[in-house]
Amino acid sequence: MEKRVRVRFAPSPTGGLHMGGVRTALFNYLFAKKHGGDFILRIEDTDQNRFVKGAEEYIVAALKWCGIEPNEGVGFGNGIHQPYRQSERKELGIYQKYADKLVASGHAYYAFDTEEELDAMRKRLEAAKVAAPQYNAVTRQNMRNSLTLAEDEVKNLVESKTKHVVRLKVPRNEEIRFNDIIRGWVTVNSSQVDDKVLLKSDGMPTYHLAHIVDDIEMEISHAVRGEEWLPSAPAHILIYRYLGLEDQMPKLAHLPLILNPDGNGKISKREARFPVFPLSWQDPRETAPYIGYKEAGYYPEAFINILALLGWNPGTNEEIFSVAELAKLFDFERVHKSGAKFDPEKAKWFNQQYLRKKTDQELADYFKPVLQEKGYNRDNEFVVSFCKLVKEKVQFVHEFWEQGKYVFESPTLYDEKVMAKKWKPESKTLFTSVYAKFKTVKEWKVETITTSFHEAEAELGKIDMQLLRVLVTGVAGGPQLFDMLALIGKSETLNRIETALSKL
Ligand code: GLU
Repeated sequence: MEKRVRVRFAPSPTGGLHMGGVRTALFNYLFAKKHGGDFILRIEDTDQNRFVKGAEEYIVAALKWCGIEPNEGVGFGNGIHQPYRQSERKELGIYQKYADKLVASGHAYYAFDTEEELDAMRKRLEAAKVAAPQYNAVTRQNMRNSLTLAEDEVKNLVESKTKHVVRLKVPRNEEIRFNDIIRGWVTVNSSQVDDKVLLKSDGMPTYHLAHIVDDIEMEISHAVRGEEWLPSAPAHILIYRYLGLEDQMPKLAHLPLILNPDGNGKISKREARFPVFPLSWQDPRETAPYIGYKEAGYYPEAFINILALLGWNPGTNEEIFSVAELAKLFDFERVHKSGAKFDPEKAKWFNQQYLRKKTDQELADYFKPVLQEKGYNRDNEFVVSFCKLVKEKVQFVHEFWEQGKYVFESPTLYDEKVMAKKWKPESKTLFTSVYAKFKTVKEWKVETITTSFHEAEAELGKIDMQLLRVLVTGVAGGPQLFDMLALIGKSETLNRIETALSKL
């Protein structure tokens, strides 16, 4: 029988959750939704040295903002598999139990080597030109472990609580084969795999042991994670095999990396010229915060849409998808193996698409306080009309003011390029006539302005619309000119033309 779909997002609280991590969470979420399964948040905090204060809270807040909430896990309510923090799960004794089982069956062993001894081994191997020095089937024979020491010595060392770790006993030369949903069959020779530490000397499990124990205990059906975990997968396969749990092993899916815009390497939070975190993140070890997508003005729906298309495609040219739509379409078959280039300009475009989906009233509700702060009080109808016009020109709501402030403030400067190119000695006379014509318009609205303008052209010849725009707004471009003039109003438009003409 197929297992019920239960997937987990299992970050370590070692810093803010970056966009790659959110993408992993998203693909897990979508897969769970598609199959009516469970999505779990498990905090993998067994490495106390890398623990960063605030990271866990940040992860929970980020998933909430993105609207991809787990239905079980830290910060999201408990299911039958609680607790969901590995440091708390250690108290259940499960990691020790599984490690003991591996030792008892001869697939793991105690290693008593000190830091100095490990260091000396590394140096010896480097001197012998070994490319990747590691503790493995060959080198372990010269180290202090339960495979090389006499049985009673081992017993004494363990009983006297001498510092030791538990390592996986990886065979010397064996093919390890496994299937990855995204990558297909992967074969690795065990000579490439080191004898990974399973339990550390402080009794804490490493990631390798802990995630396997938890995936089994929590009945996880698919382990969906970043590509950086692919090299460890062969060791994981051996652990499942030695525990006799291969048939209960979750299916594996390793997601492709998200690459820099130029396709070179993984996105680096320090070098990126675009947000890397969903929410602003202040790392307690650093002075300046990293600005988040939220604070940069992105809608969470846009952010999620952007992430969904980094490594996955729907098989059509369609690009705009809600989370609900994605959950219907998502499939690992359409996740590719190669890295996905991130395009920051395209990201802005996505935000613009979502901004355009907002109603004019929603945008006006956002913009009214901004306007008030600038000292302008306008009625709802006016602000709605303003937003309706200006929204075509912006990618973010915070650009409304910059893009449309001339509606509220008369210009003091006139676009130099346009003026230099188009303003002729006879222009003044021409626009004086346009002014006179506009003055006769009774009911000032788009249709009457248009008619009046055409009548003026019939009488006076071609009138440059861009020049008219610059006289009234100061800037060279913007929404439809007559719409703008209607919004600005008759007397204000006339005043502005008059002022401009007096200066030119
Ligand atoms: N704790 C690991 C991480 O931080 C999780 C890897 C996995 O999903 O197995 O990426």
